Amino acid sequence: MHSLSSARQSEVKAWEEEITPCEHTLTLEQLVSGPIPASGLAHCNACDLKENLWLCLTCGSLGCGRQQFGGLGGNGHGLSHYEASGHAVSVKLGTITPEGGAGMMIALIGVDSADHDPDIYCYQCNDAKEDPDLARHLASFGINVQTLTKTEKSMTELVCPVMNVHPPC
Ligand SMILES: [Zn+2]
Ligand SMILES: [Zn+2]
Ligand SMILES: [Zn+2]
Repeated sequence: MHSLSSARQSEVKAWEEEITPCEHTLTLEQLVSGPIPASGLAHCNACDLKENLWLCLTCGSLGCGRQQFGGLGGNGHGLSHYEASGHAVSVKLGTITPEGGAGMMIALIGVDSADHDPDIYCYQCNDAKEDPDLARHLASFGINVQTLTKTEKSMTELVCPVMNVHPPC
C-alpha cells in the first residue's frame, strides 16, 4: 500500500468521522398504520424504561438502547426488535412528554443540544448514520419536526408576563 501524505491522511480521517447515510436509511420503506398514540411513545415497548429510547423508523416500535457504561440504562430492546424484524434504522428520542399531546409528545429529538443532528442508528451497519428524509419518516408517525422547531423558537420569544413590573425578570 502506498503511503499517504499527511494532508491526505487527515482528509481520510475527516471522511471517516463524518456521519453519512447508508443504503438502509436511503431506501427505508415504512410500514405505517397511522400516527403513533402518545402511549406508544411513553416508554419502551418491551419494558418500562423512559429514557435511552429508539424509535424504529420502519414500523414505529419504540425500544430501549443498550446499556451504556456509566451512562443511561438500557435493556437492548431496540436491538432485539431489529433481530426479530430486520428493521435496521432507528432514531433516538429525547425528552418525551406524552401529556403534551400530538406535536408536543417529543420535546427533543436527538441528543443534548438543539443544533446537534438527531442520533440515527443503523443496526444492520452497526453504526451511526444519517437519514436525509428523517422529517418525512417522522411525519408518517404523526411526529412533526417543523412543529417542534417552531415550539422551541416561540419559547425563546416568550415575553415575561411580569416584565412591566420587574424589568430584569
Ligand atoms: Zn426496553
Ligand atoms: Zn420496526
Ligand atoms: Zn445501514
